[in-house]
Amino acid sequence: MKFGTKAIHAGVHPDESTGAIMTPIYQTSTYVQDGVGNHKGYEYSRTQNPTRHALEKNIAAIENGKYGACFASGLAAIDCIIKILNPGDEVISTNDLYGGSYRIFKTIFEKYGIVFHFVDMQKVSSVEAAVTKNTKLIWVETPTNPMMNIVDIAAMSTVAKRSGAILAVDNTFATPFLQNPLDLGADIVMHSVTKYLGGHSDVVMGALVTSNDELAKEIYRIQNSSGAVTAPMDSFLVLRGIKTLHLRVQRHCENGEKIAHFLENHPKIENVYWPGFETHPNHEVAKKQMRGFGGMISFTLKGNQLQDALDTVKKMKIFALAESLGGVESLIGHPATMTHASIPKDVREKSGVVDSLIRLSVGIEDADDLIDDLKNALS
Ligand SMILES: *Cc1c(COP(=O)(O)O)cnc(C)c1O
Repeated sequence: MKFGTKAIHAGVHPDESTGAIMTPIYQTSTYVQDGVGNHKGYEYSRTQNPTRHALEKNIAAIENGKYGACFASGLAAIDCIIKILNPGDEVISTNDLYGGSYRIFKTIFEKYGIVFHFVDMQKVSSVEAAVTKNTKLIWVETPTNPMMNIVDIAAMSTVAKRSGAILAVDNTFATPFLQNPLDLGADIVMHSVTKYLGGHSDVVMGALVTSNDELAKEIYRIQNSSGAVTAPMDSFLVLRGIKTLHLRVQRHCENGEKIAHFLENHPKIENVYWPGFETHPNHEVAKKQMRGFGGMISFTLKGNQLQDALDTVKKMKIFALAESLGGVESLIGHPATMTHASIPKDVREKSGVVDSLIRLSVGIEDADDLIDDLKNALS
C-alpha cells in the first residue's frame, strides 16, 4: 500500500457495534472483564486503550515498522529510549541537537550514569572516533534543528551495527512522508507527534516505531511501567491529523522551496539553511534519503545583531512568533532565546545558533502572502 492510503486507513476499522467510520474516543480508564483474566484485550488504559492502539498501528504503518508506541510528549518518547540503557552505557549524538533532547540527556540521564558524547555527525569519522566498547546507542536527528544539517542515516547504521549499538533517529523534521529511517537501517524511529504528524498545533505527543521484537518488548514495558502515555482524545486528534499528512507535507515542501529561494536572494540576509539547496554541504545525502526537503528553513541576518533579529520576528504578521513547528500555520522563532536558550552560548554558537539566527516553520498558507510578510518584516 502506498503512503496516502496507509495514512488514511492503517490501524483503523469501522466500530463493530455501530459502524462508525471514525475510531471512537474511548474515554475510559478500565474495561469490564467477563471473568478473572477473561477480557477483550484491554485491561487498563495506561497499558492499552483502543483509540491509542489504532493510532500506534497507524504510525507504525506509515514508518514501515511493525510496532508503534505513543507517549505524552516527544520527550517522553526519548525518555523511554534512554531507559532501555544501563548505567555506564554511552550514547553518541549530534552537537546541534534539539534543545530539549540535549537537556534531558545532560540534566536528567547523566546523573544516572549514562554517558553522552556530542559530535559533528555530518562526519562519519567523528562518530567512529567516539565509539567505545560501552557505546549502546547512536542518536541521530536529521535534518537537525535549527541548522538543517543532514546526517547520513545509512552510514550511521553501518557504524551502529559494527559497534553493536542501537540506532535511533528523531524523524520529527522530515516526517515519514519524506524519510523512513527504518528502511535505511535504523532500529527505532522517534517522533515529536506534536509537530507534523498532529499538524494542527493542538496536541503534545510523542511516538516510537520499531520492527525489532526485543526492542518493542522493552519499549512497551517501559511505556507501561513509567506511564507517560497519551490520552484517548489526543490520539483521536492525531489520527485525524495524519489522514492529511501527505497533502500537508507536499504543500510545506512547495512553500518551503519558494521561501528558501526568496530568502537566498534578499540583500539583508547572510545565510539560508535549507537542505534543498545544491550548495547545502550535504545536499547529496539529503537527496539520497529524503523524498523532499520540507518547510523548515533557518537564516541569519547580515551584521549578526541580536536586536535586528528580535525586530524582524516582531514585525511578522502572518508568521506567528511561537515555539514549535509543523502545524498548518506558519511560525517564526528565534532559537538563541527560545528553543535553544537552555544550551550555553558558547556551545550553541559553535554549532551555528548565533544571535541573528531565525527559524521558520513554513505553513500551508498561500506562498505569496508568506513572502509578502517576510518582505515587510525585512524592509
Ligand atoms: C519538539 C521536538 C522534540 C520534543 O518533542 P515534544 O513533543 O515537544 O516533547 C524532539 N525533537 C525534535 C526535533 C523536536 O522538534
